[in-house]
Amino acid sequence: MKLGCPKEIKPQEFRVGITPNAAQEAVAHGHAVLIETQAGVGAGFDDDAYVAAGATIIDTAQEVFATADMIVKVKEPQAVERKMLRQGQLLYTYLHLAPDPDQTRDLLDSGCTAIAYETVTDRSGGLPLLAPMSEVAGRLAPQVGAWTLQKANGGRGVLMGGVPGVGPARIIVIGGGVVGTHAARIAAGMGADVTVLDRSLPRLRYLDDIFGNVFNTGYSTAGLMAELLPLADMVIGAVLIPGAAAPKLVTRAQLGSMKPGAVLVDVAIDQGGCFETSRATTHNDPIYEIDGVMHYCVANMPGAVARTSTIALGNATMPFMLELADKGWKKACAEDPHLLAGLNVHAGQLTYAAVGEALGIDV
Ligand code: NAD
Repeated sequence: MKLGCPKEIKPQEFRVGITPNAAQEAVAHGHAVLIETQAGVGAGFDDDAYVAAGATIIDTAQEVFATADMIVKVKEPQAVERKMLRQGQLLYTYLHLAPDPDQTRDLLDSGCTAIAYETVTDRSGGLPLLAPMSEVAGRLAPQVGAWTLQKANGGRGVLMGGVPGVGPARIIVIGGGVVGTHAARIAAGMGADVTVLDRSLPRLRYLDDIFGNVFNTGYSTAGLMAELLPLADMVIGAVLIPGAAAPKLVTRAQLGSMKPGAVLVDVAIDQGGCFETSRATTHNDPIYEIDGVMHYCVANMPGAVARTSTIALGNATMPFMLELADKGWKKACAEDPHLLAGLNVHAGQLTYAAVGEALGIDV
């Protein structure tokens, strides 16, 4: 099969769909890998790295789309890319169709078969192609929060780990899922005093079993939040209610109870944010202040560390990419229900119930 990887064109997107290591594996499986020139440069992979892996460098995205049997990307295809998709072509990338009727219509019109990273499942009911980006965002959250806590950035001027004779920063992580667990680990590793709040007792038990005294756990209620907020130097929002907007767990009025220069990092901003005062920001202008409290609300945090994110994503997407290329999508999906769960569009037909419900299209 011919696998094609165009350079991402969405603004501020530096990741790439196929790493040189993944290209090398695909070539070893007998496939041709076509990479648009400079596609990997934002993630630190130049064309030579792909050539060394056995891939072919192609001058234009048009040529990649025209030649490849399967397109491998990171972000949903942009309007100009959707025009280049064709009947029978396989698309393997993040799609997030539910809030995007224009993209859905174009994909249906193109006749392509589209597998969405975000709906591929695993045996434990998780989302293995979303998890790596949650891991990245979680681990990045204390790092950007620590930077925001610095005086010059509007923060309280508190060091995460303190120093001998001076106590550490106090961090609350709301939501102990993938993002929250990784955020808590890193914050605790930086020496901060960390408390993770969740509404799932099994999850709190799991965290306690695995991490012991590395951080504290608490059952997330409005009452406990009101108790902890005045003590916090940083609050990391990492909740998720699948399929719903994030619940607002800190109100504007409560900012007044916080220490001046305290920091809110709202990782859940891509689901609307879990603080009432959150609004999405960008890497170019990531922070703002309301009522003396600093806010960091970047919606695509993994983009800040494009190289790590690309490799982490590639590690997760590659096994499925090889399954699809080796067997063709029909056989691969028939043999693997988790890959089948990723099928969103086929030959003009929507094949994913939740997207159909959201957009009012028959599935
Ligand atoms: P997850 O499902 O693994 O974890 C979410 C956790 O929130 C669960 O443990 C759940 O029990 C808990 N929760 C739900 N309601 C709660 C409440 N009221 N109080 C406390 N906890 C509550 O999800 P995840 O992968 O960790 O993702 C978390 C959020 O981060 C999602 O909104 C996701 O979209 C977002 N995210 C953002 C970025 C970014 O760049 N900003 C990147 C990756 C993920």
